[in-house]
Amino acid sequence: AKQENIRNFSIIAHIDHGKSTLADRLLETCGAVAQRQMSDQLLDNMDLERERGITIKARAVRLTYRAQDGEDYELNLIDTPGHVDFNYEVSRSLAACEGAVLVVDSTQGVEAQTLANTYLAMEHDLEILPVFNKIDLPAADPARAKQEVEDIIGLPALDAPEISAKMGINIDAVLEDIVKNVPPPTGDPEAPLKALIFDSQYDSYRGVIVYMRLMEGSVRPGQQVKMMASGAVYQVVECGHLLPLGMEPCERLSAGEVGYFTASIKNVKDTRVGDTVTDAASPTAEALPGYRPVQPMVYCGIYTEDGSKYPDLRDALEKLQLNDASLSFEPESSVALGFGFRCGFLGMLHMEVIQERLEREFDLDLVTTLPSVIYHVYKTDGTMVAVDNPHNYPDPATIERAEEPYVKVNIIAPNEFVGNIMPMCQDRRGEFKDMQYLDTNLVELHYQMPLNEIIYDFFDALKANTKGYASLDYELSGYRPSELVKVDMKLNGEAVDALSFIAHRDKAYPRARRLCEKLKENIPRQLFEIPVQAAIGGRVIARETVKAMRKDVLAKCYGGDITRKKKLLEKQKEGKKKMRSLGTVQIPTEAFLAVLKLD
Ligand code: GDP
Ligand code: MG
Repeated sequence: AKQENIRNFSIIAHIDHGKSTLADRLLETCGAVAQRQMSDQLLDNMDLERERGITIKARAVRLTYRAQDGEDYELNLIDTPGHVDFNYEVSRSLAACEGAVLVVDSTQGVEAQTLANTYLAMEHDLEILPVFNKIDLPAADPARAKQEVEDIIGLPALDAPEISAKMGINIDAVLEDIVKNVPPPTGDPEAPLKALIFDSQYDSYRGVIVYMRLMEGSVRPGQQVKMMASGAVYQVVECGHLLPLGMEPCERLSAGEVGYFTASIKNVKDTRVGDTVTDAASPTAEALPGYRPVQPMVYCGIYTEDGSKYPDLRDALEKLQLNDASLSFEPESSVALGFGFRCGFLGMLHMEVIQERLEREFDLDLVTTLPSVIYHVYKTDGTMVAVDNPHNYPDPATIERAEEPYVKVNIIAPNEFVGNIMPMCQDRRGEFKDMQYLDTNLVELHYQMPLNEIIYDFFDALKANTKGYASLDYELSGYRPSELVKVDMKLNGEAVDALSFIAHRDKAYPRARRLCEKLKENIPRQLFEIPVQAAIGGRVIARETVKAMRKDVLAKCYGGDITRKKKLLEKQKEGKKKMRSLGTVQIPTEAFLAVLKLD
């Protein structure tokens, strides 16, 4: 299409305000999909995403719309991931657009991610078009929601479309708004190729499919292209447009368009989100700004319950990584758990999604260790160690100082909950920055908090303390000095590596006590007494005891009935299968999991 008739846009929203539903409705209205072929929320194309109602990976589709002015427009809808863990991918998707449709739930009004996403879109100079959704609900108050958008965000909203994405009401108004108000792309199609990678996907037949937005120049099959950050060079096999139900190859894609190419690329690692694709023979002078290599923020050990499944776990992780460059893993071993992998994730949601996929799609039963952030430990010899595993914590005698990652936290909640939120943040070592009234009811709070304090249960706790009304956003703000200690857990005098953890000194004691209690509760009595201890270095800071069992199982069958004895032994063996042998102590897997789930 001519550049004047192209519109590249995203839909942004607070979670659950109706982004995916609107996307579906736009697809349907543009006749992109016959109604009976529509599965709900086509853009979220993994089952897991659909079930959890979240959008994990960005996707793009081209729609064709005949506007009221009689012209045909090419609308490229770029869907963005809906979670703070994927903020970088969101920023790259937005960089591929000229406009953003801001969906606001008319029953809820402006919420934390409404604001955060709007600011992100503004940073990319996007034209922002608010639309007010869910007007079919009795509780809808679009007039109030519009006033909020005007007052809080400062966007003109009074004439914005009022819609129901679910019932398909007023969808045309949204499309007309896009055509009239999102600026068409610019960029010289004759200049050297300059395209932004905003997503990629692995396909076992074609290799990696690279999703890109062309800023300048053009691309065609046979062309040699170069990824500017990774340096990799490939020959394009196919290029084309992304349609809702598949890909449509074409002869040439040019400046302003959104599409894909394939080039027999084996690994998504060479096609990094944010990288610039250029022509290998006549490259563009400068790469597009904003590229950042992915950086895992949270690590945990992943093991299989059945140790013999270790190779299956490795295969599964390799398969997932083909499609997810932000997942990292390397082998590690634990005395308690055997062979497994240290895995790095963008955040807790990313971690949960990967764990769930491993269990569901690859049918693995997993045991995971407590998640940990990356600590920076500076040693007396002048070196720095980045510690993502308590196991690698240096000998305290060699440590000069340590630092932990902090995040800038942004919480938006109704005024009445401020009294609940502040103590929660304080308790998690949050440093209050400021508080702002967004209107007479909504308050925005800023904190600096250690990442470690929010990865476990902060979001859930926040929701619980605010009847679900508060919303949370955070971004890494840097490293700060911290008084850290490594706590070892010992069973029967032996350290259990899978249970050790790093914590701030003030948090180490209560946490160690709770871990000891949990272990005591969950370890069945055995033939001997088992001391459960937590220690920092050689110093025990908490202790419990699992009392010895009074009778042997076999004592019940007075030496007589042999079949009964056999049955009992059988039963015991079955029980054993589910046990983890921690040194001399056997604990049931469930107990282990219960302990690891301790927040
Ligand atoms: P997203 O998280 O922004 O992608 O939100 P979804 O599109 O997944 O929608 C969240 C929930 O709101 C789903 O249960 C939708 O069915 C529902 N929903 C979306 N739009 C409407 C609407 O216009 N009216 C009503 N009643 N429900 C809607
Ligand atoms: Mg969604």
